[in-house]
Amino acid sequence: MKIHEYQAKEILQKYGVLTPKGIACFTVDDAVSAAKQLGGKIWVVKAQIYAGGRGKGGGVKIARSLDEVRLRANEILNMRLITHQTGPEGQIVHRLFIEQGVQIVKEYYVGLVVDRSRQRVCLMASSAGGMDIEKVAAETPEKIHKVFIDPIAGLSQQQAEDILQKIDIPAPAWPQATALLQDLYRAFDDTDASLLEINPLTLTTDQRVIALDAKMNFDDNALFRHSEIAALRDLDEEDPVEVEASKHELSYIPLDGNIGCLVNGAGLAMATMDIIKLYGGNPANFLDVGGGATAEKVTEAFKLMLCNPKLQAILVNIFGGIMKCDVIAQGVVVAARDVQLTVPLVVRLEGTNVDLGKRILAESGLPIISADNMADAAQKAVIAANA
Ligand code: GDP
Ligand code: MN
Repeated sequence: MKIHEYQAKEILQKYGVLTPKGIACFTVDDAVSAAKQLGGKIWVVKAQIYAGGRGKGGGVKIARSLDEVRLRANEILNMRLITHQTGPEGQIVHRLFIEQGVQIVKEYYVGLVVDRSRQRVCLMASSAGGMDIEKVAAETPEKIHKVFIDPIAGLSQQQAEDILQKIDIPAPAWPQATALLQDLYRAFDDTDASLLEINPLTLTTDQRVIALDAKMNFDDNALFRHSEIAALRDLDEEDPVEVEASKHELSYIPLDGNIGCLVNGAGLAMATMDIIKLYGGNPANFLDVGGGATAEKVTEAFKLMLCNPKLQAILVNIFGGIMKCDVIAQGVVVAARDVQLTVPLVVRLEGTNVDLGKRILAESGLPIISADNMADAAQKAVIAANA
């Protein structure tokens, strides 16, 4: 799960991380009052969307007067902000964050992620922070320094100082910067975060480091023990189809092909997409209906796939292990009738009661294309989608 920058900063402040003072708002008038309340002479008006790269897309603007705050807030609020992370359709800005402006001496990058192969949290840092960190990672990866953190010991002072030295943070800032890195790690660990990024981390004129930006993602499987974080979920920022899918406990990920896939089990779903590709087709989605695929779930799954205007065919690939094939077949028939299917439907069933399942499909009177194995199913789906 993702959260907004201002929410991440609120969490980090609780762990002692220094951030500029800021106020989140939903209207232009509130943005101006927020700036007044914050005081000072320079403010930053920041679009709050889940994607990064806002600065380059025009979603982060400096304002030097309250009138300018109004002007910038007016420009940014409700704009369709397009960044390299939003895709070409962009994301509408519904929330703003007004912050006190900070004079930047130098921009650094600091990130924490879970490194699965090492089974450790990795702290990454670079002296080349700012808006081009992706370019740094691609072209000069040696400028990004890494340290792997022992889960029992946490981030040691030695490790922190090593990395501060490597990224050229001036020595007078080390005590405060070390504490900040340790605070970041504690925040990451305590909240079951999967990613924490400070870009830029900035050196101030008085030799301290401050988090000018903050991005936090969390492990969905751990949200049950962080109700205060789960409550921050902003559905405006999520793909409505994925939100609908999660309500029905379906794992659905839209893709850009034209063959809808309805499969039980993530592994079989991946294999199904692979074999569609093998026969020259393109999957329209990943969809795992899970082990207990009821008729209701299958119906919801069909509805989700049919929302996609590019859909040209559906391939149902079910292994009846926990669920028997006849129950699945019944579900498919009910669902296909219920949604008034408009595209060809290829079904491949295998497992317990497969013959009964196939008979139910054949006798349903629906124009279902039956397939005997995965290769057969994929080829039939590719042909149907191109017809
Ligand atoms: P992102 O583009 O989505 O990563 O948004 P950021 O929060 O990182 O802001 C983009 C850029 O705006 C930063 O890299 C800074 O260079 C600049 N910026 C953000 N806040 C301030 C500030 O308080 N003062 C100054 N001078 N620049 C800022
Ligand atoms: Mn940033």
